Amino acid sequence: MAYKLKKGVFKVDCKQPGCPFDYEFEINQNIMGITEEDVDSEAKKIARDMARIKHDSVYGSKHSLFNPTIRKVSGVYEAIGAKSSAIKYQSEATKYKEYKKGEMILQKGDIATTICEVVKGAAYVDKNKTRVYKVGDSFGAAALLVNQTRTADIVAGEDGTTIAFYNLKELNNKDPRKAKELYTEAMEDIFGVIQDMEQLVEKLENELEKQTIINQNRKERIDELERSLLETKKELAEIKGGSSFK
Ligand SMILES: [Zn+2]
Repeated sequence: MAYKLKKGVFKVDCKQPGCPFDYEFEINQNIMGITEEDVDSEAKKIARDMARIKHDSVYGSKHSLFNPTIRKVSGVYEAIGAKSSAIKYQSEATKYKEYKKGEMILQKGDIATTICEVVKGAAYVDKNKTRVYKVGDSFGAAALLVNQTRTADIVAGEDGTTIAFYNLKELNNKDPRKAKELYTEAMEDIFGVIQDMEQLVEKLENELEKQTIINQNRKERIDELERSLLETKKELAEIKGGSSFK
């Protein structure tokens, strides 16, 4: 979230003796990272991959891209808006952690003291993949209102997903503007979480109602069966009684 690459062009050459491969590649992907170095290494990875493909298409039959040097020819690393203010350092107020795809970020029931923000990659609610948190989205705030425990499992959506954990109390001392911004984002997430829960309540209520109706029907059917059983017994007794007179 802190830095992003704008109009990055990288020059890649091949060190195989006699190989003339020397191309420039423009990176159009939207790369973001906590530091300039993160963005730079990510961009170079992409440039190397592009060069590999290009190299294979031109010299593939002879050798593959060998020991390439990758240099940035042009492009700037831009700090991103207001959100960059609190993201540069690890501190009591803010901690960063990187995850692999599918790795658990928050576990339901854990004690909650922080609000989370996606800095890189994505995260989603495990049981409900429709709720996805992208870069800049906050989550985990509902826990701060409900029993101080996490209300859902949150899982990393891709390798390298980076999450900032904000301690709101600490952050409020260090960077009140960021704290306020997070608070606002967190409230939006809470509304989303409430919506999810309301939908679940509605679903459960409908199910309960359906089951109640089914049971009611069953009960009526049982009553009806009991009535007809009783009547049949009575008739049987009458028939038997009648026959004893004979
Ligand atoms: Zn080569």
